Amino acid sequence: MRTHPVFDSWDCTPPIVPPRSRLYAVQPIGIGTPFVESLSGYLARLADAHAVSIGNLVLRELSTLESPLFHSSEPGIFHGRFYAMNSLGDSARKWVEALQAATMQGQLRFLTLLPFADLLWPLAIFRRRRAWCGACYTDDRTNGMPVHERLIWTLRAVAVCPQHRRALEELCPNCSKRTKPITAFSRPGYCSRCQAWLGSRDCAGDHPDCSDVEIWSADQVGELLSSAPRLRSLSLRNTFTTNFQTCVDYIAEGNKSAFADAANVHDDRVKAFLDRHCQPQLSTLLRISYHLRIPVTSFLEPDLVRATASWQEAKARIQKARLPSTRSRDNIKAELQRAASEQPPPRLSDIARRLNYVKLDRLYRVDAKLCRRIASNYQKTLQPPGTNAWDKRFCSPKQMQRALEESLEQDIPRSPYHVSIDLGFVGDEPLRRKFPALCRAIQAKIDNYNASRIEVMGRALTAALTEDPPPSLTEMCRRLGYCRPVVIRGHFSELCDQLVERRRAHRVREIEKLRSELHQFSLEDPAVSLEQVCKRVGYSRQQLLRLCREGCAAVVANFERSSRETAQRKLAELRCRVRQIVAMLHQEGTLPSFKRVNALLGKWVLNDWRERVVAIRAAKAELANRS
Ligand SMILES: [Zn+2]
Ligand SMILES: [Zn+2]
Repeated sequence: MRTHPVFDSWDCTPPIVPPRSRLYAVQPIGIGTPFVESLSGYLARLADAHAVSIGNLVLRELSTLESPLFHSSEPGIFHGRFYAMNSLGDSARKWVEALQAATMQGQLRFLTLLPFADLLWPLAIFRRRRAWCGACYTDDRTNGMPVHERLIWTLRAVAVCPQHRRALEELCPNCSKRTKPITAFSRPGYCSRCQAWLGSRDCAGDHPDCSDVEIWSADQVGELLSSAPRLRSLSLRNTFTTNFQTCVDYIAEGNKSAFADAANVHDDRVKAFLDRHCQPQLSTLLRISYHLRIPVTSFLEPDLVRATASWQEAKARIQKARLPSTRSRDNIKAELQRAASEQPPPRLSDIARRLNYVKLDRLYRVDAKLCRRIASNYQKTLQPPGTNAWDKRFCSPKQMQRALEESLEQDIPRSPYHVSIDLGFVGDEPLRRKFPALCRAIQAKIDNYNASRIEVMGRALTAALTEDPPPSLTEMCRRLGYCRPVVIRGHFSELCDQLVERRRAHRVREIEKLRSELHQFSLEDPAVSLEQVCKRVGYSRQQLLRLCREGCAAVVANFERSSRETAQRKLAELRCRVRQIVAMLHQEGTLPSFKRVNALLGKWVLNDWRERVVAIRAAKAELANRS
C-alpha cells in the first residue's frame, strides 16, 4: 500500500505588514550637515517624485490631511508665506506634522529652524527671494545625488555658499528674473518662471568677491544647522544665557560695555541678552561670533568646560588687541615680569603704552619694586661703556635740554612728565629741578592749549542747545573728538544736563508726531502696509514697534482689513463672472468644463486655481438646480 507523505501544516496567520505611507517615503537629505535640505525644498522634491506640481500636491493631496494648516481661509498658500514653512513658528510645525504624516519620515523638523525655536528672534530671518548656488546644483547632478535646495540658502545672514565659497545667486541666468522662494511650480534646480536649469558650468573654487565676514558667517550658520540633531538641551535659551554670561565674565571680567566694544555690538544688546529681555537675532549672534572669533555653537554647548576653551582663545586674541578691561592686577604683574627679562630692556613707558596707560602710576601701584628694576635695566643700557658703578647717570643734561626744547617747539608740546618717562626716568622730578624755566614754559603752552579746547567745547555745547533736533552727547563727543562724554561732563555738567533734557523733550515730541502720522496712515485708503510706512517715515520696523506699538498695530489692522475686503471683492467678482460664462456656454450648448471656463476667464480676475475650481463647481451646481 502506498503511503502519502505527511506535510507540515501551513501557518495561515497573516504576516505583519508595517504601516504604509500615503506618499512616497522620500528620505530627507543632509540632516546633521551644513547642507541640510530645506522643508520647502523637500516638498518640491516630493512633488517631483510624484510627477506633479507643488500646487497640485498641496491642494489636492495634502489638503485632505487632517491639518489645520490647509483649512485656513487665506487665499493662495504660496503667496506671502515665503519661507515660513522652514521657519521656527507654528506654521513650520504644522507643515512638518502634515508632511511627516504623509511620508512617515520622522526627522523633518531638522529641515527647518524649529530646533532653535526658543533661541532665535523669529523676524527678518529669511530671504524674501529664492537664492541658490549653481555649483551645488551641478555637483548634485554629477555625483548622482538628488538635486535639492539647501536650508542655508534661505537665510538672510548667509550670502555665500560655504562649500564653493561663491556668492549665492538670485537672478535666473535665462530669464534674468528673481522668483519667490516657493511657488506652485517650483522644482529643485530649475527656475520656477522659465523652467531653465540653474546649475552653473563653472564650479571653480574661491570666489574673489566673498569677504572674510561673509565666509565666516556662512561657515558658522552651517555649523549651527549641522548641530541641530545633536542639541540635547531642553531649553536652548537657558543654555545660551548661561554660556553668554560666562563668556562676558571670562573675556571682559563681567564688564558688559567692554565686551560690547570688543564684539562690536551695542551695550544694550549685551544687557538685553543677559537679562533675557529679548531673543538674539541670528545676525547679531554672527557679528559677536565674528568679532570675537568664537564659534556660534559654543554658546549652545551644554558642557561648560568645552565652551570655556572657546572663551580662552577669544580672550588671548583680545588681550593682543589691548582691551582696557584686561588691565587687571594679575595681567599687569605678568606683563611687568615678562618685561623684566626682555632683551633689549624696554622703557617703563613702553610697557605702560602696551597696556594702554599714559602714565606709570598704575604700574607702580601694582609692583613698585619690579618697576624700579625695569627702569634701571633700561637706564643701564644707556650708560656709556666704562662708566663707574657708582655713576647712575644715563642721560646727560644736554640730552634733557634738547628733548625739552624739541617739545616746546611743537604746537601741542609733550608734558615734562612724558618727556621724562620717554627718556627713561620714572618721574619728571630731575627735569623740573634742572630746567625749571623750560618746564614752566612747556606747561604754560599746554595750559593755553587746554584752555582753548575747553573754550571750544563750551561754545560747541552752547551752539548745540539751539540746534533742532538737538544732538546727543555721543554725537557731541564725536564732533569734539572724545570717545566718552565723561570729559565734556567734567567741564560743563550743567550744559550737558540741559542738552540731555532738550534731547529728551525732542524725543517725546518725535514720538508724538510719529503717533499722529501712524494714526493718519492707519486711516489711509487704499491701505498701506507697515513696510511702506517704514519707508515713508524712515524708521526700521523694530524702531517703529519700539516707539509706537499701538500705532503700528492700527496700521497693520487697517491693512489686513483692506486686504481681506479686496480678496472678498475679487472673489465676488470671480464668482459673478464665472456664473455669466457658465450660463453663456450652457446656452451655446457647450459643456462648461474647467478648461473652457478658465480660458474665457483669462487673467483679469483673481488668478487662484483653487478658488476658480470652487466657483466653477458652484456655478454648475446652481445651473443644474435651476434646470
Ligand atoms: Zn555651492
Ligand atoms: Zn528663469
